[in-house]
Amino acid sequence: MKAVMKIAPGAGNVALGEVPEPHAAPGQVKIKVIAAGICGTDIHIMKDEFRSWPPVVLGHEIAGEIMEVGEGVTGLEPGLRVTTETYFTTCGVCRYCRSGQNNLCLNRRSIGSGVNGGFTNYVVVPARNIHALPDNIDFEAGALTEPLACVVHAVTSTPSVVPGDVAVIAGPGAIGLLAMQVVKAAGATVIMLGTNRDAKRLELARTLGADHTINVQETDPMKLIAELTEGGFGADVVYECSGAGVAAAQLLTLVRRRGRYVQIGLFGKPVAWDLDQLCYKELVATGSNASVPSAWIRAIQLMREGKVQTKPLISHQFDVTDWQAAFATFEDGTGIKTLLRPVTE
Ligand SMILES: [Zn+2]
Ligand SMILES: [Zn+2]
Repeated sequence: MKAVMKIAPGAGNVALGEVPEPHAAPGQVKIKVIAAGICGTDIHIMKDEFRSWPPVVLGHEIAGEIMEVGEGVTGLEPGLRVTTETYFTTCGVCRYCRSGQNNLCLNRRSIGSGVNGGFTNYVVVPARNIHALPDNIDFEAGALTEPLACVVHAVTSTPSVVPGDVAVIAGPGAIGLLAMQVVKAAGATVIMLGTNRDAKRLELARTLGADHTINVQETDPMKLIAELTEGGFGADVVYECSGAGVAAAQLLTLVRRRGRYVQIGLFGKPVAWDLDQLCYKELVATGSNASVPSAWIRAIQLMREGKVQTKPLISHQFDVTDWQAAFATFEDGTGIKTLLRPVTE
């Protein structure tokens, strides 16, 4: 099978390779991949900024059909339309695994970095990772279950957002647009912030339900946020989804005293942040890492109910053989979410 692979450690070293078709071992399920999303993590693996175990097939945002179930697997049948959680192995015995926080296990290995992932025709995963796609969710939309689960984990594992909150989200990329919808579904008024390069994304944010959008390079968001909030005190909760240091700094000025700051984007390097504000404002600042199984259940429910729409985020689709053009849409900022499709010879 043709596969997009990290072929060796070091920067670059991503190429189209050939791997043998896998089979489902006991307890595993083999999925025929129909669509797989490109994630920031894939780009970080290419640049060697995120740990991987080459040679390995990339891709962890997968939707497809069950082809084969291994010995001992019950309740799953070939033909079922599915998506899959990404942790192939965790240690199972550390304090995090035993507390339902397997995302924090130090020995976690995931598809697409630690074991072969979905930028190819077939992938095998533990049966416990499988989630059936609701009837109203097609394969393309279903490939975004993983980033949605990460966002749901980010929003639900941090101090809660409640009806009547005014929330500010910085960064209208795929993660920000998903966060906006999840926070809206929780009953908040949402202001989405972007920059000059985000004109189209901000438009999409409005289509998907953002109450207000602001290009921060044209308009100071402070005025609107002061108008929208009781006493002009500022936002109740802010979500940093852009991974840009300036956005992190700006959100500190927009959040009210006793407000909540949630970090979802990754900067890839230390950024300047005025920690005095944590004291002066008595802020609660939190972050999140990947997802936990309960977030997947909630993510799928949000998609089933139409409270979160993932399909409008798909900007490009390519065959795996065109992976370089596909990765470029991520790097040059033209893409929101780009999918890869396997090729059959
Ligand atoms: Zn991802
Ligand atoms: Zn563990």
